Amino acid sequence: MRADVIVVGAGAAGLACAGRLRREGLDVVVHEARDRVGGRIHTFHPADGGPPLELGAQVVHGARNPVHALVGADRMTTVPRRITARVVQDGGNQDMGVLGQDRRRPPWLLEAGLHREPGSQDRSVGAWLRARCTTHREGRVAREWFRQNWAADPEELSTAGVSDAHRGDTVVGEGEFAVRGGFDRLPLLLAQDLRIALGDPVQEIRYTPGRVEAGTARGTTGALAAVITVPPPVVARGRLRVTGPACAELDAKIAAATRMPLGDGYCAVVTLGRAAPDTVITFDVDGRGGFVRCSAGRPEVLFVAKAGAADALRATVRSAPALSALLETVMPWTAGARVAGLTTADWGRDPWATGAFTAPRIGCEGAVRTWAAPLDDTLFFAGEATVGGSRLPWVQGALASGERAAEELLKVLANR
Ligand SMILES: Cc1cc2nc3c(=O)[nH]c(=O)nc-3n(C[C@H](O)[C@H](O)[C@H](O)COP(=O)(O)OP(=O)(O)OC[C@H]3O[C@@H](n4cnc5c(N)ncnc54)[C@H](O)[C@@H]3O)c2cc1C
Repeated sequence: MRADVIVVGAGAAGLACAGRLRREGLDVVVHEARDRVGGRIHTFHPADGGPPLELGAQVVHGARNPVHALVGADRMTTVPRRITARVVQDGGNQDMGVLGQDRRRPPWLLEAGLHREPGSQDRSVGAWLRARCTTHREGRVAREWFRQNWAADPEELSTAGVSDAHRGDTVVGEGEFAVRGGFDRLPLLLAQDLRIALGDPVQEIRYTPGRVEAGTARGTTGALAAVITVPPPVVARGRLRVTGPACAELDAKIAAATRMPLGDGYCAVVTLGRAAPDTVITFDVDGRGGFVRCSAGRPEVLFVAKAGAADALRATVRSAPALSALLETVMPWTAGARVAGLTTADWGRDPWATGAFTAPRIGCEGAVRTWAAPLDDTLFFAGEATVGGSRLPWVQGALASGERAAEELLKVLANR
């Protein structure tokens, strides 16, 4: 196969990049390892036609998020604020309001404080919390809150990185939104009119300045340039080999990829034999379930677990009694209900994802810059991992990175 540009990966970043290049008149081919587009945007559609649930990216952050324009404002709904919010702590299930009682600060206010005032010196969020939290319980709740929002342990998270990412992302505005019909509408729309080879993982990218070959099990695609949008550990683990003229930049890039792990993530939709009486979100401080949701009148319970809770949930779903016990703790209405179906997304063990997303870790800014930099005006890099510490590692960051890589490439081609 031949093309002007090869894009590796049909997630938000790869599709945004390929679309931009195609609108400029370039012949683009996208190689995607999975048999679907969207990457970490992955929607569960109940068999009875009920409302979809998200197994990957959950919500669209911000009223000015580009997703609104891309899917059409009429397709967007506001995530309801007035739902029953519960918290599980030491095995007890209580109203979430308990987190703000007795002069304790709820974790979302603590996190907002960090965004505003990270302190003059970079340190771990864990150390920052130890200096801020007045009780053991407040610290424990806050640490789990950060684990679930950032898919990383607070001891590894950088205060400067978290704060800078938030500040860099204020362009998207406030509020949380959902795409009616499912988040997967976004990649499906972006993929329209693109040439995409699905189920075709790129095993090797070979390049010399101005020429690239992508080797897959089906054959070779040749092009003038390539944009790599895969999570860095896919390269670090050798699932995608990048080879070229021996140079320090290539070695440094591969070394950078080894220092950019994604945080663990595991999601599960449990379909029960009975419907939920109320719409509830539960935050599991005990670290076994992450955030757990159900909707009034629907039989599904959705678990979205990150960091340590992802591994705990991964183990729990293997045992039917353990899963029922966890369900009863986080959603007491499920007691005695039959489990009629289970659909999981194991992001941490998925070879094409390797985790949920890339949190700003202490000391990793250099690796992010090295990974994101173009090589020999021929290989370009995008994906949420490339925005670390300057934008949030979410869909808007992935889209922006795809646009940025397309701009870099267009500039180079214009000067050739
Ligand atoms: C549980 C969870 C919750 C999240 N919550 C939110 C949220 O609420 N809001 C939000 O905005 N974001 C959220 N995110 C993050 C968001 O999903 C990601 O930031 C975004 O989807 C990343 O897009 P990307 O294009 O950078 O990467 P990906 O979507 O991972 O795309 C990369 C693509 O490359 C493909 N690939 C990998 N290796 C190869 C290869 N060798 N050859 C060919 N193709 C390859 C992959 O299959 C994949 O399709 C969440 C993610 C998870 C997992």
